[in-house]
Amino acid sequence: MKSSSSTQVHSDPDVQALDALLERAGLVRNLRGKAAGVTRRMRFERAQPEELSAPAPAPQVANNGVQWLAVPGWEKMSWLWHGFSTRKGGLSRAYCADDAPGELNLGFTASDAREAVAGNRRLLAEAITGDPATPLITLRQIHSTVLVHAVGKDAARPQPWKGDGMMTDEPGLLLGIQTADCIPVLVADRKRHAVAAFHAGWRGTVKRIVEAGVGRMRLEFGSRPEDLVAAIGPGIGACCYGIGDEVLSGFESQFAYARELFREVDDTDAVHIKYPMLFLTQRAPGHSPIGPKLHLDLIEANRRQLLDAGLKPGSIKVVGGCTNCQRELFFSHRGSQGHAGRMLSVIGVRKPASRR
Ligand SMILES: [Zn+2]
Repeated sequence: MKSSSSTQVHSDPDVQALDALLERAGLVRNLRGKAAGVTRRMRFERAQPEELSAPAPAPQVANNGVQWLAVPGWEKMSWLWHGFSTRKGGLSRAYCADDAPGELNLGFTASDAREAVAGNRRLLAEAITGDPATPLITLRQIHSTVLVHAVGKDAARPQPWKGDGMMTDEPGLLLGIQTADCIPVLVADRKRHAVAAFHAGWRGTVKRIVEAGVGRMRLEFGSRPEDLVAAIGPGIGACCYGIGDEVLSGFESQFAYARELFREVDDTDAVHIKYPMLFLTQRAPGHSPIGPKLHLDLIEANRRQLLDAGLKPGSIKVVGGCTNCQRELFFSHRGSQGHAGRMLSVIGVRKPASRR
């Protein structure tokens, strides 16, 4: 029998076949004193959902009732407009109880009235810039790495550009990224007064949308990473973001630090806990849905990507919150089984006349 530091190779072909199967499944047969068939996953740290959840950030309340999140410290950049919306304030009736106040859905979803969304967009522009007519440019987001250098006339396009990142150095425009669980990332160049906004779901993150965006800012504006500041907005947290094998293999194929982004989290699905026997026979040992599930920390993934792109650790702010945990404050696609509004994360170069 040969042995290595972490595993033993057994001579029995049946045992070898079992070990190979377990290895493909990310499992290892426990070799030390446990009953046959007892397995444990290897490679990932274990955590409870509550250890991973971030407290809800405290929104500002604009005069028009819109509740939004500012990045601490960014108010010092008087040339900059920025903000992350919440679901609070606004005119939408599509996602709330009949007797609840209107909400701030900022995406033209199938369920909501177009006038309500258009009105909400003006309210957000007013909350951030003081002028409801400030041009707002959004994208038809497609989980790509397509980046758009936006200019003023883009705000009047009947159909938005397709893409998942935007940048501009033109004053007087707001760039807006729509999310309801995915991670919005805002970037500002303190020296050249250029700005960018990115949509980073797991697909965009694996495709390195933020890293590509920082590279593109260098080409378009001469931005140097050391002059950039970034803010990672609210999205689904590692507490709630259970993922499947295709997500894990996507990250493992792209990032040397991939495994640091995942945690094994105990299943909190009430149905699984209440009726474990319903699920016991459906999967191989170690793959029971009652056991731990892999969760992804998309916020940390994008923070790491910003570091890889050359930003300084102190230049990256995480606004906090989890869209699924804090559904009274945020829209969550997953948390409401797809029936959700959208938040907007906006950034722009303030018009000179309106600078403080
Ligand atoms: Zn959560």
